[in-house]
Amino acid sequence: MITVKVDVSPDSKLIVEYTWNLFCKHFDIVYSCANESYDLTIGFGPDSDIQLSEDFYNKLHNKDYMWKSHFTNSPIVTLDNGQPDYLSSAFYLVNCVQELKSTDIDSIGRFLYQQSLQNHFNCVKKDLVSGYFSKLKDSVPTLKKIAYSEEKSKFFISHDNDTFHASFLQDGFWALRNGRFDVILKLMTAEALRNPGWINLDKIMDINDEHGIKSTFFWLVNKGNTFLKKGLKNADYNFDDSYVQAQVKQVESRGYYNGLHKSISKETYKEESERLSFTPIANRNHYLRLNVEEHYNELDNANIDLDFSLGFAEHYGFRNSYGVPFHPFDLAAKKTNKVLEVPLAIMDTTFHTYLKTPRKDIANLMIDFLDENKNGKLLSVLWHNKFFTSYKFEGYLTIYKTMLAYFKQEGINPVDQNEIAETYKNH
Ligand SMILES: [Zn+2]
Repeated sequence: MITVKVDVSPDSKLIVEYTWNLFCKHFDIVYSCANESYDLTIGFGPDSDIQLSEDFYNKLHNKDYMWKSHFTNSPIVTLDNGQPDYLSSAFYLVNCVQELKSTDIDSIGRFLYQQSLQNHFNCVKKDLVSGYFSKLKDSVPTLKKIAYSEEKSKFFISHDNDTFHASFLQDGFWALRNGRFDVILKLMTAEALRNPGWINLDKIMDINDEHGIKSTFFWLVNKGNTFLKKGLKNADYNFDDSYVQAQVKQVESRGYYNGLHKSISKETYKEESERLSFTPIANRNHYLRLNVEEHYNELDNANIDLDFSLGFAEHYGFRNSYGVPFHPFDLAAKKTNKVLEVPLAIMDTTFHTYLKTPRKDIANLMIDFLDENKNGKLLSVLWHNKFFTSYKFEGYLTIYKTMLAYFKQEGINPVDQNEIAETYKNH
């Protein structure tokens, strides 16, 4: 147990205490705050054991959130004397401060990777925050002597169920282009029997069972076109249809999990979650479309404990430069949100739709990234149900299995959503 005195202006105190708590949880350090007889001080003054940049907090209070206001040569806040301020840098990155009030958004309202600091500094594949925390710990003698050994990373698997019926169109188009009329006939028969190849949750669970994985399946309650943009669709199924409900039950009965896949709609998260046939404790937003200023408060209002949405659609890696679950801090309300955010590291469509990576190269890219992050992280992976199918998505199943083989070889074990909630409940 160490005691610490946080000596900053009242308007900055909650932010600093939040980040200090995040740092301590990262290393399992037990601490208390005190104004007398303390082991170390955190403050703006040059005599502090951990000195912070007052300028950084002034900018935050003035709602100056753009990364260009805070960083020049590297994504790190510096003191007047040029020394790094790791704690403030961590706060900025973890909470996606660059996204607040940002107008760098795409046509559906998503913060653009292209305009991000991660793109500018070429660091999206790195968990910078864990690195900053380690450097901070090593730079303060009182902290350095606290023993800590980093554990092997763990991985979490989930699936977004967007489409069950598009096989007929999408695989059919593939079959036409490839002259596979036998396949077209097969697809027509399957669709007529209401048993299309993309209703494959049983097959996904068979594969996951072999690896001890109990994954989460996210469900959309809204179907068809969205109000936002032409061609931007929610589910191609009716959540209430009996064959869909049979899938939901099958997931439950096999010990897997169902969650909310927040659709693109004007409904609140709470309204959508009340339309589900189960009580969700986890969510992921469709298209990873979210606005950090509203997202976490919406989740808290809906009593959703876990969120898996925080990733860039356009690039794998870490949207907030941190590979560990955390409770976000709401700068406007100056409070910590209840929901636990589990950053998303890898998504199949990033390679398929955004990066357009040749299939033969995907597994290697993924493994290079995972290998750089094999310690101290929770590696969250999204594989849509349709990426387990043949024809149009041929090859993605092999990539998925290669990833699982890598995890096994490295002793990186799976965790399910309940284990995540339990592990990080006091963070
Ligand atoms: Zn989706």
